[in-house]
Amino acid sequence: MSSNLLQLIARSVNPGAGKLLSDTELEYLLGLTNETERNELYKAAYQVKLREIGSRVYFRGLIEVGNRCAKDCYYCGIRAGNRKVERFQLSLEDIKVATEEALELNYGSVVLQSGEREDEAYVAFIEEALTLIRELSGGALGVTLSLGEQTEEVYRRWREAGAHRYLLRIETTNPVLYHKWHPVGCDFERRIGCLELLRKLDYQVGTGVLIGAPGQTLKDLVGDLRFFERQDIDMIGMGPYLVHRDTPMGQEVLEANDGREPDNFDLALNMIAVARLLLEDVNIASTTALHALRSDGRERGVLAGANVMMPNMSPLNHRKDYHLYQNKPTAVDSTLAHTSLVESLRQIGAEVGFGVRGDSCHYAKRRKNNS
Ligand code: SAH
Repeated sequence: MSSNLLQLIARSVNPGAGKLLSDTELEYLLGLTNETERNELYKAAYQVKLREIGSRVYFRGLIEVGNRCAKDCYYCGIRAGNRKVERFQLSLEDIKVATEEALELNYGSVVLQSGEREDEAYVAFIEEALTLIRELSGGALGVTLSLGEQTEEVYRRWREAGAHRYLLRIETTNPVLYHKWHPVGCDFERRIGCLELLRKLDYQVGTGVLIGAPGQTLKDLVGDLRFFERQDIDMIGMGPYLVHRDTPMGQEVLEANDGREPDNFDLALNMIAVARLLLEDVNIASTTALHALRSDGRERGVLAGANVMMPNMSPLNHRKDYHLYQNKPTAVDSTLAHTSLVESLRQIGAEVGFGVRGDSCHYAKRRKNNS
């Protein structure tokens, strides 16, 4: 391994040093392919995480509320145009059962995620679900929403009903790619505007991108990291692009690769690690998409600097219909999956932050600085 690389990595571990990395250096680190070199990068990111937020991993029980979606994103299995999907929406009772399960397992937070809908019936339903979650937990559970683009009024209603974090991935910050991946009914500027609204309404704001999707370069990923930095983002949820064969992007990728699915696992870990070096104290999720590619994918995400996991609490009978990409892990009993995840985290020296929300340290600091 070159001593230049070792020096670069060693230097980036110091407080504030990630911010001094140039675009060229960020690109170089993202592009590492040699295993020994990558491991050095991950170790450095892990150290920064230990220093900034400790060794704990926070669990959020993921509740997939429904797969009806008004959008037609080229990569996504639940896009409006995919007629093969059986559409569903959970009832309040389903949400109650999932929340109780998260409480029983002593999770500090839940996430409500779904396809994008802006109709009043849906907005009011989410409001009711938030009220229910608040009642069930006596207000103790942290609540993240991941429900797409909405108006300021809707974000405000949901904030008042008890949500305090919001994850809205920008997917890519290269406008040309954005338009290619979302050719109809999507507006890049609106999505950025939504992130700004969420910040104004005092949510902890999360965003993220697809990693390794067709046409995307390392320079684009550097641009994404700079966007996270500029927007002063509190949380990051990002993962490798995975093929879904009933989508235009999936078809295109399979045709270009003689039917083989690409493997963006290492690139995704690099992106997590470099994000940790650059942004230091934000929450970073080790996503299900990593788990789809490797059985220990999420644990490896933690070792590369992530500190949040979103184990699935959705009712088992609907999991197969929330099929964003192929090989998404589905039919596993939540409690069994929980037990083995806690054990595998213990084996890598990470403990779970049970019973606490695990809010973004970055958010706490920026609020303090503003007051
Ligand atoms: N509609 C909500 C939630 C979307 S699903 C919203 O837009 O915020 C959550 C995430 O799954 C998306 O943001 C997207 O980044 C990811 N996703 C969708 N299709 C994917 C694919 N084929 N591979 C990897 N991730 C995918």
